[in-house]
Amino acid sequence: MKRQRGAFHRETANRLCREYDVICPEDLMLKGMKSLWGRKVSDLGFGNFVQVLRTQARKHGTHLVFVDRFYPSTKTCSSCGDVNGAITLRDRRWECPQCGVTHDRDLNAAINLLRVGASTPGLGDVRPAMPAVAV
Ligand SMILES: [Zn+2]
Repeated sequence: MKRQRGAFHRETANRLCREYDVICPEDLMLKGMKSLWGRKVSDLGFGNFVQVLRTQARKHGTHLVFVDRFYPSTKTCSSCGDVNGAITLRDRRWECPQCGVTHDRDLNAAINLLRVGASTPGLGDVRPAMPAVAV
């Protein structure tokens, strides 16, 4: 099982680094996640995957930009930038109270993580983390 997981991690990290120039994972607090969800987090080997991803990123010249764990990627509306503090872990879809757009939780977070990660200096012409709002 451990060997299969390691092979899966290497294949996945290798594929991601071949396909993308920039990868923006969330800098997760694994200790906190383990205390919240227990052994499941350890079984997934996420910490090991991140190590493998770092190695593959160096090999392929892929920019690996970790987004701060306290950035509210899930609660921030990727359409208007409003932060919805009412979202819970059970909410897989939610509607922004400001602009009315309905979000898939994971897709919305991925869009926000890409914007924040790609706005890191030195990565060229990218969109800012938050769109400018006309006053
Ligand atoms: Zn919104």
